[in-house]
Amino acid sequence: MKLYEYEGKQIFNQAGIPIPRGTAVYTLQDASKAAQETGYPVVVKSQVMRGGRGKAGGIKFATDEQELLQSVKELQSLELSGERVEIILIEEKLDIAREFYMGITLDPRKSLPLLMVSAQGGMDIEQVAREYPHQLFKMHLDPLAPPRLNNMLDLLLKTGLQGSQLVQAAKVLYNLVRCYFKYDAITAEINPLVIDASGNVVAADSKLEIDDSALYRVKAVQDFNRKSEISDPIEAEAKSLGISYVGLGKGNIGLIAGGAGLGMASMDMIWAHGGSPANFLDLGGDATMEKTANALRVVLKTPGVEGVFINLFGGINNCEQMAKGISLVIDELQPTQTIVVKMRGHSQDEGWAILESINVPTVKFGTTEEAVILLLEQMINKGVTDDGYTN
Ligand code: GDP
Ligand code: MN
Repeated sequence: MKLYEYEGKQIFNQAGIPIPRGTAVYTLQDASKAAQETGYPVVVKSQVMRGGRGKAGGIKFATDEQELLQSVKELQSLELSGERVEIILIEEKLDIAREFYMGITLDPRKSLPLLMVSAQGGMDIEQVAREYPHQLFKMHLDPLAPPRLNNMLDLLLKTGLQGSQLVQAAKVLYNLVRCYFKYDAITAEINPLVIDASGNVVAADSKLEIDDSALYRVKAVQDFNRKSEISDPIEAEAKSLGISYVGLGKGNIGLIAGGAGLGMASMDMIWAHGGSPANFLDLGGDATMEKTANALRVVLKTPGVEGVFINLFGGINNCEQMAKGISLVIDELQPTQTIVVKMRGHSQDEGWAILESINVPTVKFGTTEEAVILLLEQMINKGVTDDGYTN
């Protein structure tokens, strides 16, 4: 999940990184209150996920209330790469003497985080890499042995920083690295890191992206209480229930599998036999009765789904519990869709007995392919019957 600038700054600040005084607001009224509290002149910054706001007109300055209201109105009517501006950050205007770059991102070639610093701040890092490659200083980070303050000093010395600014910047960099690991970030960047006219070092911007799989343990991020970035409501619901979900477009078969490998094999089989999967839900290794039931509820709710293939293996998971989850939902919703289950492993006999008692076609010893063929046949039969061609 990408964080807004103001959210990232709050996290940076909690980690000891100095940020400008400021407030994020939604309305004109709150903007003018925030600016008064901060004191003019202020920067008026649109909060959007895309970078390069400065160039795109998403950052304005105001020296008095009239300019402020004008700026806020302009930003509110702005659309940056299709993203409407809802939140605006009002901050004290920094008196900038110099701008630096510091950032950490994943280096896929080395499978390690890569720390980069440069005295060419304020412009895109890609542009720095292109135009000033010799002014971009890099260091790979070992997650098991994060760098110390003196490593930061050594790296930043190369940018020409000296004295108090060098020490302040090294502390910022040290804390940025701490944040990166603490929050399982994918990217953590300060661009620009500003040295103001009084010689203070301040993070004027923030870019922080957290690994989605780590969000559940990042309390500070959950507190932001953000609207979901997921536009598909079914996917959003699945994610909120802790189910891994992949939407596949306009198919008519919902797929619930125990494990990604089994899921992909099932998808291939569905395609190979002329079916088309609508989505793929992975129950993973903690498929309780509840989780299985939730997954089935989500799939049955998916528009266009006429058949459901449930392909499970009882390794860590227990077939009886998963069958109970399926049975619960079938009792509760009396679905009209065709459901076929293939289930084998731990407590299989108990699981099969439950499925048999509610007449769910169950493949016990057969293959995934046989189960898919059974599902497609049943769907076709049902379709023919419903269309009135037989009977
Ligand atoms: P970005 O364009 O989305 O990366 O937004 P930034 O927050 O990095 O701002 C872009 C540029 O606006 C900075 O590099 C600065 O040159 C300028 N800027 C931002 N905040 C201030 C400020 O407080 N004072 C001054 N003088 N310039 C600012
Ligand atoms: Mn920036």
